[in-house]
Amino acid sequence: MGSLLVVSAHAGDFVWRAAGAIALATARGDRAKVLCLSFGERGESAKAWREGKPLEEIKAMRRAEASAAAEVLGADIEFIDAGDYPLLESPELVDRMVRVYREVNPSVVLTHPLADPYNGDHPAAARMALQARVLAQAIGYDAPGEPLGAPPVFFFEPHQPEQSDFKPNVLLDITSVFDTKRKAMECLPAQQHMWDYYTDLAKRRGVQLKRNAGPNLGLPHNTMGEAYVRLYPQVTGELA
Ligand SMILES: [Zn+2]
Repeated sequence: MGSLLVVSAHAGDFVWRAAGAIALATARGDRAKVLCLSFGERGESAKAWREGKPLEEIKAMRRAEASAAAEVLGADIEFIDAGDYPLLESPELVDRMVRVYREVNPSVVLTHPLADPYNGDHPAAARMALQARVLAQAIGYDAPGEPLGAPPVFFFEPHQPEQSDFKPNVLLDITSVFDTKRKAMECLPAQQHMWDYYTDLAKRRGVQLKRNAGPNLGLPHNTMGEAYVRLYPQVTGELA
């Protein structure tokens, strides 16, 4: 049984960008765990701030929404409440993440890409996710559990891919679980404007997926996709 670890800076990020991958993993019986470093309470909850809600209420609301989305996807979710805008990198936070790596022992890791000129929290989460992965691999690192193997890391798609130098080299077919992704997105009414945006993006990535998967016969299809960038080389005994 595999296990998927998703490191998300804010409460909604894992839903828009990786819900398809999560739903595919749990549908085939793998474990999936989402680690939310913050609730996105300051930077990604504009509607709630406009409505005059207080900070603690916004955090509770975002926690409930993200938990509901994770449940739809069949994933475990853990919140660290490290604060957002800014999400500050710290050795303590990285150490907590090492412990999560050692506990989950992921076979695959998903997180944000390392560049996002619109949102400093996303690259900060990615840097810490990568550092924690490397530390968790070290047999001498003082944390419970066995040293981590070498799980591949995939960056999920940022909101402004071109500006973030995001050039996909993996297109994941999420057609079979797209309805589940849509249901998970609809658990996040604080960011309702994203539902259709990420549905349209999945269609676009689906078209690109088909173009990369076979002959261009111009046939209609309903393929839905998610785009990723693989950080480390694929290891294989056969080129295919
Ligand atoms: Zn975010």
